Amino acid sequence: MTFDYDLFVIGAGSGGVRAARMSASYGAKVAVAEEYRVGGTCVIRGCVPKKLFVYASHFAEDFEDAAGFGWTVADAKFDWPTLVKNKDAEIDRLNGIYIKNLEAAGVEILEGRATLRDTHTVSLNGRDITAKYILIAVGATPFMPQIDGIEHAISSNEAFHIEALPKQIIVVGGGYIAVEFTGIFNGLGVDTTLVYRGPQILRGFDDEVRAHLAAEMTAKGVCLKTESDIASIAKTATGYTVTYNDGITQDTGLVMYATGRVPMTDGLGLEAAGVETGPRGEVKVDARSKTNIDNIYAVGDVTERAQLTPVAIREGAAFAETVFNDTPTQVDHSIIPTAVFSQPPIGTVGLGEEAARAAGHDINVYATSFRPMKGTLSGNPEKTLMKLIVDKADDKVLGLHIVGPDSGEMIQAFGVAVTMGATKAQFDATIAVHPTAAEELVTFKQPRGA
Ligand code: NDP
Repeated sequence: MTFDYDLFVIGAGSGGVRAARMSASYGAKVAVAEEYRVGGTCVIRGCVPKKLFVYASHFAEDFEDAAGFGWTVADAKFDWPTLVKNKDAEIDRLNGIYIKNLEAAGVEILEGRATLRDTHTVSLNGRDITAKYILIAVGATPFMPQIDGIEHAISSNEAFHIEALPKQIIVVGGGYIAVEFTGIFNGLGVDTTLVYRGPQILRGFDDEVRAHLAAEMTAKGVCLKTESDIASIAKTATGYTVTYNDGITQDTGLVMYATGRVPMTDGLGLEAAGVETGPRGEVKVDARSKTNIDNIYAVGDVTERAQLTPVAIREGAAFAETVFNDTPTQVDHSIIPTAVFSQPPIGTVGLGEEAARAAGHDINVYATSFRPMKGTLSGNPEKTLMKLIVDKADDKVLGLHIVGPDSGEMIQAFGVAVTMGATKAQFDATIAVHPTAAEELVTFKQPRGA
């Protein structure tokens, strides 16, 4: 049987683009369909614009810090439309690069929402197209709990385009997106409340990391409401009134939900092709990203393995290696360094203290909390936390956690060591770089409680 394409990729986000380009480089005839913009969530309305906003919001604190170093920053003013305009220009630039790279690789870009008709056929804008292999890389979309008045709330999708900054905002959720946007809005001078249903934000992270961030966010002026949830949202003449589960009400200029993201599999035609999905609509795949149908694969957020761009990129590359380069490849999801661009940011790799104990490890914990050097002159009271979890049995560093400036950068480098299985002795043998904050991680002497 002949097909229109060797590979048809549905979704031009991080995973889909990497898979398409690499497969084409191995000689495959490839098309990719995208219904919104090439680049996907990360580039268009995720990691990239978010980080630009984090930079923008941190200037407020930087200006204050500058005074202790002798600077007078006169009359600093912030203009939201300028930030949005410049951010949009940068996203347009990146979008253009993604398109150019796909075209240069010989990948055909098709605009529109592709749906599956059977195991080898997709339908796009009323046309049937056949392919030997189909890759589902449609990503995920914000999950909005169905409470009364939820239509008044925005998600991160809209947060990048609001026309004007509100005076107050309520952010709902306790995950990556909620804490990152809380920091952004708070830094930009918006009176910010973070509402989380559990006892402490960032469930799943090391407990000390969670508590440290919560304390620092509160010190920076965020109103953190834990064990709290919103029952309804009503529009008022000037904004919104939210009613909490306990009946208490709060007026606000905007409500943003960051309550997780769900796979975008609705209406994708998975049933028509017989592709199996899990309880949240995620496409079920094996270790090589193959679905239950031999010629259909899926990568990235739609599979809900780890909703992270670098993981999707790895999965996309492994798919191309496996299917079009005759090199069966699988991605190791067991250890993933990650950063939360909260303020202060978090860098983490491996197990938290509680998770290490729960997994049965007998551990030594090395931890320190200190005011970074810059704070001595700036007077900024923010503290940095650094923590190592070490297996007593073999001295391996099981987890490394940082809350503090540049922790995202540090964790990329320390992630190499932890992924390689470095021991505490090897950390100790590494000569410190002075004066840095990171040197604390190679100079720990006594475990906690010793
Ligand atoms: P997360 O899964 O990280 O967090 C979702 C949060 O919403 C949790 O705190 C959860 O609470 C809460 N929640 C879920 N359902 C409800 C509900 N019905 N009512 C109230 N609260 C609810 O999702 P995010 O949306 O923050 O981010 C999505 C994914 O995107 C992340 O998992 C992450 O992988 C990725 N991401 C990564 C970033 C990075 O690498 N820096 C940045 C942004 C996103 P509970 O804990 O109780 O379940």
